[in-house]
Amino acid sequence: MKIAILSQEPSIYSTQRLKEAGEKRGHEVRVINYLRCYMNITSHRPTAIYQGKPLVDLDAVIPRIGASKTFYGTAVVRQFEMMGVFTANASQAISRSRDKLRCMQLLAREGIGLPVTGFAHSTKDIDGLIEVVGGAPLVIKLLEGTQGIGVVLAETKQAATSVIEAFRGLDANILVQEYIAEAGGADIRCFLVGDKVIASMKRQGAPGEFRSNLHRGGSAQKIKLTPEERSTAVRAAKIMGLKVAGVDILRSNHGPVVMEVNSSPGLEGIEAATNLDVAGKIIAYIEKNASKGSDRHDG
Ligand code: ADP
Repeated sequence: MKIAILSQEPSIYSTQRLKEAGEKRGHEVRVINYLRCYMNITSHRPTAIYQGKPLVDLDAVIPRIGASKTFYGTAVVRQFEMMGVFTANASQAISRSRDKLRCMQLLAREGIGLPVTGFAHSTKDIDGLIEVVGGAPLVIKLLEGTQGIGVVLAETKQAATSVIEAFRGLDANILVQEYIAEAGGADIRCFLVGDKVIASMKRQGAPGEFRSNLHRGGSAQKIKLTPEERSTAVRAAKIMGLKVAGVDILRSNHGPVVMEVNSSPGLEGIEAATNLDVAGKIIAYIEKNASKGSDRHDG
């Protein structure tokens, strides 16, 4: 098959591993910078053009869209969908999961466990907002943040009020969340391919750090999920419509709660912690399903 990885970063671990795994399984794999794909919007023969040449004979794309490039990136993925190219994740699923608030609303509607979460526009409503999540300590999150940046633990109501006022003063959109202290600075990353959890790891924040992000000095190890955690992760990815997903879960006193569903989960941490060939499993999934799609097309 001819597979394109849609990524701005050809040299990072995840991109390299996907390319390598695809080639090892006998495919022709290209890394395409989706920001340099331009397209014609037409019903007749929609095309994506890269470096002056139309991308005509691709069988599948693997979107690895950067968080800050969701708008253009999903437009490119949508173009491939219009062209009948199989995509590891659908454009709509990527957009859905990128909007943290929308993601939580959709998960809540389907009864997935979540930390108690509040959202408000006006700073006049801060007191009410803090009450909604049960008071301090609480976690404040920038809606547009990633890798733990813009995630703040406010220990007191006064601290919470000042941080919320500061963020809102900068016109930043924020979520306010119950602090799951019992998670002990750890979270669980469930890596899904197709409708299955194929790998999972526990990430533990550095000492004194409540955020477990590996980018913030956390460490990771393989973990066995409980059946409830596994089914929560599977359901969360399904609700988002993602086929390749990283579902982040906290172990709370009231069971597993989902914090985030990631549409471009990194491969480095999970492959190192579990020793599994996650990239190979993504390629195998594409092999199985892209051909199914073309059968349907032919029939
Ligand atoms: P990002 O998307 O920027 O990584 P997250 O919402 O995943 O932000 O938060 C970063 C980390 O902070 C999480 O991995 C988790 O360890 C910790 N964390 C986030 N929300 C809570 C919460 N409500 N209670 C306890 N810890 C939390």
